[in-house]
Amino acid sequence: MKPQKVIVLGATGTIGRRTLDVLKQLQQSDPTWDCVGLACGSRVDRILEDAKKHWPAAKVASVIDDDRADFCGSDAALHLVEACASTETIVVSAIVGAAGLRPTLRAIELGASVALANKETLVCAGHLVQQALKSSPGTLWPVDSEHAAIAQCLRGIRSDQIKSIVLTASGGPFRDTPLSDLREVTPQQALNHPVWDMGPRITIASATMANKALELIEAHHLFAVNDQRLEAIIHPTSLVHGMVHLCDGTTLLQMCTPDMAGPIRWALTAGEHDAAVAPTLNPLELTSLEFTPVDTERFPFVGLGFEVIRKGGGAGCVLNAADEVCVQAFLDGRLPYLDVYHFVAEAVDRFGHHDPSTLTDILELDIAVREDVANRIP
Ligand code: NAD
Ligand code: MG
Repeated sequence: MKPQKVIVLGATGTIGRRTLDVLKQLQQSDPTWDCVGLACGSRVDRILEDAKKHWPAAKVASVIDDDRADFCGSDAALHLVEACASTETIVVSAIVGAAGLRPTLRAIELGASVALANKETLVCAGHLVQQALKSSPGTLWPVDSEHAAIAQCLRGIRSDQIKSIVLTASGGPFRDTPLSDLREVTPQQALNHPVWDMGPRITIASATMANKALELIEAHHLFAVNDQRLEAIIHPTSLVHGMVHLCDGTTLLQMCTPDMAGPIRWALTAGEHDAAVAPTLNPLELTSLEFTPVDTERFPFVGLGFEVIRKGGGAGCVLNAADEVCVQAFLDGRLPYLDVYHFVAEAVDRFGHHDPSTLTDILELDIAVREDVANRIP
């Protein structure tokens, strides 16, 4: 494991803060680990304080104007990456939403390795990411727990040996809620995730399972499998994060106590499993491991995720942009819970045939979908 210079994009978020915890642990055992860049949307105070104390070399970027930051404005994270990323750095991509796309792609182009939490980058621009990786010395490490788990299962496995890849899902707060009650669901109820502590967008997307749709698309790009070789199943305790069925009837699965420090440290250390990050599971205490199929009436987003994979082109970008707008509208009390799916599915119908090839085309489609969906929300 080569100690790294780390850039954290989305440093004030749930993943960003957990990353800085992990980095402090790494630095304790090897002081050559350092953070050289921190980017956030707002609340720059948080990172300035941390930077002064722990990371004096770090440049700071903030979307909100602040004289104490080195870069400000909507492109601040991109400018930070351009100033600080190189083949010597690993960029933790943990901005939420399509806003993470440009800085993440730029980091790959500059030859940095990327620890990718921002699944939206792959959902919106999977083909550009794969293209950029071909000419980069850097590696893309998935931080999404399911994808990190599957990447761990896939070590030493060839693509033609994979029968199918299974993503697990906790089912979120409404796994067992009577369907007739879903109409009245409030943001507060939807923000109360039973297993994971996450930012608001992904928490709501976990309740609707739009997040699993995004993750299926993410897996499609990461592991080069089509919809026929992908599955999602409900696993309420989130101990098994991913499974791979091989052609010969072998199933590999990865288990771990749910804590994002595990995949973050694994990604930062280029695949090491060398330190106690989570408690070791005791199989004697696992009385049962429950798996159930996804109820497609309750979670129509999962079917939409498969449809988007089949459509290809810009459909992932459309699904993501529409979901970002609808989640915000739901959180603001402007859109009922069940309408989040309806508006997103409608956007995929209306815009899903677009086939953007360049980054500019993708960003234009993203904006067009956001405007259209925002105008349709009453
Ligand atoms: P969060 O809302 O807690 O944090 C988002 C971060 O992005 C904040 O630091 C915010 O300031 C920053 N940000 C937002 N817009 C920005 C912009 N335009 N420029 C720069 N920074 C900006 O979200 P999170 O839960 O940490 O999730 C981050 C990403 O990681 C998402 O893509 C999510 O899907 C993914 N992810 C999260 C988890 C989790 O457990 N939280 C697990 C897997 C994947
Ligand atoms: Mg996940």
